[in-house]
Amino acid sequence: MENLIFNIQKYSIHDGEGIRTTVFFKGCPMECKWCHNPESQSYRPDMMHNTEKCVQCGSCMAKCPQEAISIKDGIISTSADRCNFCETCTDACISNAREVAGKPYTVDEIMKEIEKDKMFYEQSGGGVTLSGGEVMTQNMDYILGILKKCKRLGYRVNIDTCGHSSFENFERILPYVDTFLYDIKHMDNEIHRELTGQGNEMVLGNLEKLSEKGAKINIRMPLVEGVNSDDEHIGRVIDFLKTLKIEKVNLLPYHNTGKSKYERMGMNYEGDSYSAPDMDRMEAIRLRFEKNNFNARIGG
Ligand code: SF4
Ligand code: SF4
Repeated sequence: MENLIFNIQKYSIHDGEGIRTTVFFKGCPMECKWCHNPESQSYRPDMMHNTEKCVQCGSCMAKCPQEAISIKDGIISTSADRCNFCETCTDACISNAREVAGKPYTVDEIMKEIEKDKMFYEQSGGGVTLSGGEVMTQNMDYILGILKKCKRLGYRVNIDTCGHSSFENFERILPYVDTFLYDIKHMDNEIHRELTGQGNEMVLGNLEKLSEKGAKINIRMPLVEGVNSDDEHIGRVIDFLKTLKIEKVNLLPYHNTGKSKYERMGMNYEGDSYSAPDMDRMEAIRLRFEKNNFNARIGG
């Protein structure tokens, strides 16, 4: 049993307590307009081409057995229909300008990577975070395989989720999860759909059920100026969260660090029209959560 993984990040300090190994699964049911990992969205591999590194030598094109690479007006493009991700072109490129996002890993291969960092989990109170993409829409037997092995080894595992999945999937993994890092993007169903491609009924419903079941939940809220950071919306979020049992709230100011990835994937980037609230506003939002008895902090 294999699953596509697009990154295994070591020494991560933004995905829960302590030093963590974060495993990023490929494929997500949402397409957030501000997504900083566009390579996480598709459930298939993606070819990424870095024009800044490319010296246009043509080796990749000459070596591609599928004749998937073409050049027109100085722009190199790859046919998604023809490319079978054989990586002949990545090996041929001396500039490291090409990269396949999404490699298959078995549970044992993932565990081998996770176990390399066990010393850091013990020393820092950290552990493993499964992220994405969306963990909860992957093969849940595979996810359970990792969780059970981590539990046996005493590693604490966080699940970073957008919440858009069946609750049965959450119930299956509940006994093996330390903390859910749970995203709230917008309380209005239609605006949520506009921003992410999906409504929020499932997201909010699953959050209520997880809270009822006693799961440990940290809310993560990306804050985008003019989209979800106004007083009225923050009030709606607080009123909803007050009905639940929440450990912590992480307020995450929007950033555009993923912009270059869109270029490498030949995708249109809409994030330039967004910005983060300024730091005074971020602090005012944090204080409002704090006044309502939430343990709130700015950042991951
Ligand atoms: S082999 Fe590398 S440097 Fe040469 S054209 Fe292809 S991507 Fe560009
Ligand atoms: S991964 Fe293989 S098929 Fe795809 S563009 Fe590169 S050489 Fe061609």
